[in-house]
Amino acid sequence: MRIGIIGAGIMGRTLCCHLLNNFYDTRLFDKDRLTAQKNCSFTAAGLLSAYAETKSCMPALAQIGAAAIDYWRNFTKKEKTKIFFDDCGSICLADNHAELQNFKKILLTKFSNEIFREIVVSNLEPDVVPNYRTGIYLPYEAQIDAQKLLKALARLIQQQNVFQQRAVTLQEAKQFQYDWLVDCRGLGAKQELENLRGVRGELLFIEAPNVQLKHVIRYFHPRYDIYILPRPNNGFLIGASCIESEDYSSITVKTVLELLSAAYSIHRGFGEAKLIATKTHCRPAFSENLPRLYVDHKRKIITVNGLYRHGFLFAPIFSLAIENFLRTSQWQDTVTPYLVHQEFEQCK
Ligand SMILES: Cc1cc2nc3c(=O)[nH]c(=O)nc-3n(C[C@H](O)[C@H](O)[C@H](O)COP(=O)(O)OP(=O)(O)OC[C@H]3O[C@@H](n4cnc5c(N)ncnc54)[C@H](O)[C@@H]3O)c2cc1C
Repeated sequence: MRIGIIGAGIMGRTLCCHLLNNFYDTRLFDKDRLTAQKNCSFTAAGLLSAYAETKSCMPALAQIGAAAIDYWRNFTKKEKTKIFFDDCGSICLADNHAELQNFKKILLTKFSNEIFREIVVSNLEPDVVPNYRTGIYLPYEAQIDAQKLLKALARLIQQQNVFQQRAVTLQEAKQFQYDWLVDCRGLGAKQELENLRGVRGELLFIEAPNVQLKHVIRYFHPRYDIYILPRPNNGFLIGASCIESEDYSSITVKTVLELLSAAYSIHRGFGEAKLIATKTHCRPAFSENLPRLYVDHKRKIITVNGLYRHGFLFAPIFSLAIENFLRTSQWQDTVTPYLVHQEFEQCK
């Protein structure tokens, strides 16, 4: 079966590698080179976090999250080039006890008490400022080095010589001789998907030799939620802003102040940290911030878009489901909440 994939973000790359592994005759197109590092995926922090995001997401995300963590764990084990992957979980902190209790109630309503533990923070992270005495520990969360992962996927694709740098519109794609086309263009598909919007996100890369943290820290501030990701060699990623704007310009002073003061309030060692780099990009999102899988049986086009804050969680699950659909003509239950069966012209 001949499959064409348009768009080489995390979705297109993961799908391409998965189909190649399953012996499909696959081609991948992107308007930029595979090494360009320009797309939204290259800006991602690499959090594989379903439960901590649950305030804004449906429970189905948790099931997806567990499967995605397994997928990337196995992928990194097989890869020859070392990709940082850490699955020791997240610790959620809040300024006031009520906020943490509210989060606990949400977890209990949507899941069970098996997916979290109330903890004394100093038992797991002794250097966190003592103001944050108690926290909620989410053991089934992980993180991966998104940039190294994207590069590893690119290498696998290049080895098979199936990539072509070319901007493709769906109008042109009609002429391609493929059994199915999969559109993974992210915000590049905005013309066809009018409900798609960009949500700006910003990320700081920090070097902090005086900070020892083992777990991902999620901090629920009354005005914003942030995450702190510990990385090898004293590296840290700090982010989580969600700004309703399709603005690709540099990071604002306000965001840097908010993110860094939040980090400093959690660990005083961030005071001596060095700001190494900042990144901004816009996440592709639909109005309800959930992804959609459009299936146009007539034109043989599958459109995957709106991965919002969870591209690295959804990409493996959608890849497995698409391969299963190509083989069996059936969609797996895991993706039914996101399926829209209609002809592409009606998507607007
Ligand atoms: C600051 C920030 C932090 C984030 N952190 C995380 C995180 O920790 N965990 C997580 O899971 N997600 C995170 N995300 C979200 C994640 O990055 C997105 O969900 C993901 O990148 C979407 O992937 P995609 O493949 O759908 O789109 P993209 O990465 O945007 O890829 C689309 C590709 O299509 C190509 N394209 C567009 N138009 C055309 C055309 N006409 N022809 C050919 N090619 C075309 C583009 O060049 C691009 O390569 C974060 C996002 C931001 C901004």
